[in-house]
This record gives sequence, structure tokens and C-alpha cells, in this order.
Amino acid sequence: MNCTALSLTQLSGRLAEKALSSVEATEACLRRVEQVDPKVKSFIRVDRDGALRAAQASDARRAAGKTVGVLDGVPVALKDMLLTEGLETTAGSKILRGFIPPYDATVVRLLREAGAPILGKLNQDEFAMGSSTESSAFGPTHNPWDLSRTPGGSSGGSAAAVAAQLCFGALGTDTGGSIRQPAAMTNTVGVKPTYGRVSRYGVIAYASSFDQVGPITRTVADAAAMLQVLARHDARDATSHRVDAPDYSQGLEGGVRGLRIGVPKEYFGDGLDSEVGEAVQRAAKVFEKLGATLTDISLPHTRYALATYYVLAPAEASSNLARYDGIRYGHRAQGIKSLKDLYATTRSEGFGPEVKRRIMLGTYALSAGYYDAYYRKAQQVRTLVQRDFQSAFQNVDVVLSPTSPVPAFRLGEKTQSPLAMYLMDVLTLPCNLAGLPGVSVPCGFTRGGLPMGLQLLGRPFDEAGLLQAARAFEREHDFSSRWPPLTRDARADC
Ligand code: GLN
Repeated sequence: MNCTALSLTQLSGRLAEKALSSVEATEACLRRVEQVDPKVKSFIRVDRDGALRAAQASDARRAAGKTVGVLDGVPVALKDMLLTEGLETTAGSKILRGFIPPYDATVVRLLREAGAPILGKLNQDEFAMGSSTESSAFGPTHNPWDLSRTPGGSSGGSAAAVAAQLCFGALGTDTGGSIRQPAAMTNTVGVKPTYGRVSRYGVIAYASSFDQVGPITRTVADAAAMLQVLARHDARDATSHRVDAPDYSQGLEGGVRGLRIGVPKEYFGDGLDSEVGEAVQRAAKVFEKLGATLTDISLPHTRYALATYYVLAPAEASSNLARYDGIRYGHRAQGIKSLKDLYATTRSEGFGPEVKRRIMLGTYALSAGYYDAYYRKAQQVRTLVQRDFQSAFQNVDVVLSPTSPVPAFRLGEKTQSPLAMYLMDVLTLPCNLAGLPGVSVPCGFTRGGLPMGLQLLGRPFDEAGLLQAARAFEREHDFSSRWPPLTRDARADC
């Protein structure tokens, strides 16, 4: 039997029945990484020993009747934005090469405490800046559904590893769409929690007022199980909320009868692939059939969201990335003559072109002469985008749209045009500007066999409502039972 094709919750059940051990499941994942990942290139670091040690400890707990929850013994993997004690963490950048964190991010600690063996670190765009995983210093990740295409980004390694059955769930980060967009391109489920729902402590900062950690999984129930472990207050993150998380799996099968769904006209405009648009419209009809009501709505400031994001996110990034000075972390330039030379040479050598572009954009937007024209103005527009959602949520419970405007595109197709790349998050980043929760759930395949996803956005802290709606849709189709062709010939018996 190929146990790596089980969902996270199915594996958890098998572990509970003692039909399978955590060591067996972990070894099966590690074998598949060896077989499949040379093609997909989702892992940039495998922690075989650490994962097997955690799996043995989980099996011992189970034998002693002392398991610690649904994730106990379930192998998972992490985007390289998350600090892992004793295990190199680079954010996909040369500048952090050799950086071994002295502590775990809170989310990593929570996963370890929940008993999940951590298989290793997953590829991403450098510092999470990108939409295709191509700006990584480690080279691109390939989409398991078509190896000539990108898995999306920036959490492309996380999405590709879950889709290729290399792990049972993964964590990504989402600043402008980086969990949801790759999920849509790989037939996986991605959850971007409400800003403040999940701790950012120990998460390498890109744009601190946007960044959130969340799960990428094969099914909605799997995402609920992972989010359950992550969603809690953390005194080490000043923006972490004290709102208690509900039981996300409890209402999951509750359906959508009476749910008021808003369909924003601005999300179905120029640049939307016709097959994606049709799939999402079909999905809307499915929700209606299941008892939800559909309302056409308008989020009028959507057209300014992209420009606003690309002022604010680079501004925050330029400040956050000032700490990479060649002294405290990772890469340090050699043959240096002065302190200034050390800073300049380390940063010139260590950062890739997209990161440099963001630092320059952000520094410009924050500079004394331009602050009012760009940064302050963008903050004001951010408020308008937030208000659009606030007024929409007076009449609807959930907003439905496509996740990505297009299915997975070819590697190299957009690397020469930053704007074309930025447009890949045009439908996901308004949610980050407003700090709202968002879910991407599979909604079918193009005629060419590429996955597509739909996005559900909700009120602050209504992750439970979004998961329930996503599950109602998933149950109708079960796209998650379809696998990329390359998983068929891999053997990972256990
Ligand atoms: N593509 C967007 C950017 O480059 C979003 C990335 C993200 O969510 N981390 O900023």
C-alpha cells in the first residue's frame, strides 16, 4: 500500500489504529523525497535524523498510551521562512547561507509539541518575494502536475511537496497570496489565517503588517487539523490576538445552507483566464445548489490594491532586511576594507535581483521627499480597501472569487517582467491589505489538466466559517482524490 497517498487525517487514523507506525510513515516520505524530489525540487534541506527521532518518540508515546493529538506522528515539512533550532534556515536566500537558528519559531515549536516529525525545509521565493518560487537562490521548484511549469509561489515548495505526496501537510507564509496562490496551482488546500491569528515569532520578516503563517494540505479537514495546532495566542508576538480558537473540525460537515456568498465583480475582470473564470462561476452554482445564496457585490477599491501593496510591502521589507549586514547572520563578504564596504559587498553578493528591487522600491517610498506621496497615500488607500470589505460583510458572510487569475504558468515565462509576476497575486493580496482570513480550495482542472482553485474570504477570525464552506464544496467534487501523474510511478510501500 502507498501510505503517502493518505490524507493527513487518514494517516492520523491509521496511526491511532496502530495499522501503521510513525517511523514507517516517515520512512515512506523520506523514500519518496529521494525518488520524486530530484524532479520536483521542493526540499532544500532534509532532516532525516531529526524526523526519524521524532517519529520514534511518537511511536513510543503511542505504545505508552500517551499520544498528544491528531498530528502526533504525522510527518510534515516547513517553508524555509520558519526558524528551526539547529537546522539551517535561509528564506531561500544566499545571504542566510549557513545561518543556524538558536531557537524554533513558535509555530515550529507548536508542531513539535503536537508530535509531528519535521522532514525538512521547503523551497520558496527569496524572502517570500515572488509568485513562482523562481527567485530562490536554490533554483526553481517544478509543479508536480507539469514539470515544465511553476508550482506558484512564494510557498511553491510547500505546495509542490504536499501535491507530490512527499509530506502530509506543510506550512507556508502568506504576505500577498503566497499560501493560497500555490495551493490553487497544485490542487491543494491553503489557508491564510486572519492577521494576528497565528504567531509570527521566529518567522523571518518580509512585510510585518501582512505576514501570516498557515497550512497547505490535501484536504480541508487536514487544514483544519493543522490550523488547530497553530491558532493560539503568543506573548512573544505583540500582534498576536487573544481570541480563543474554536474547534475547527467540529462544524466542518455543517454545510452552507443559508450562507450568504458575495461574488465581487472586480475579481472577474481583465487578465482572468477564461477556464478559471468559468470554473469559479460553476463553483458558485454548486454553492447555490447546496443552499447558499449568491449576491453580486462590489469592492470598488480593488483596482488600487496591487499598487498599494507594492508600495507598502517593499517599504516594510526594506526596513526588515536592513538587519542582513554581514555581521549578525549568514553570509559575510571576504577581503573587506571598511565597515561600509562590508555592508555593501555582503548585501550585493547575498541578495538576488528581486530582493534588491524591493529594497530600492521600499527605500524610495519611505524617503523624506516621497513619504507623503507614496507611503502615507498607500496607507490611506489600504484603509479604503479594508472598508470595502467591512461594508461587504454587512450583507454577506463570505466572499467568493478565483484564487489565481491563471493556472500554473511555464517556468521562465514571467521572470523578465516583474509586473507580470506581481499580477499573479492581484486577487489574493486585497485580503492581506485588510488582514482577513482566506482559503483556497481546488475547483477543477483545465482542459490541459492543470489544477484551478477558488478563494473564499471571510470576516476577521471566521476561519471556521471558511473551512466549513470549503468543505461543503470539496465534498461535492473530491478533486483531492486526483493526483499528479508523477506520483503514480513512485513506490513508497509501507
Ligand atoms: N507575490 C507577492 C510578493 O511578491 C506575495 C508574496 C507573498 O505572499 N509572500 O510580494
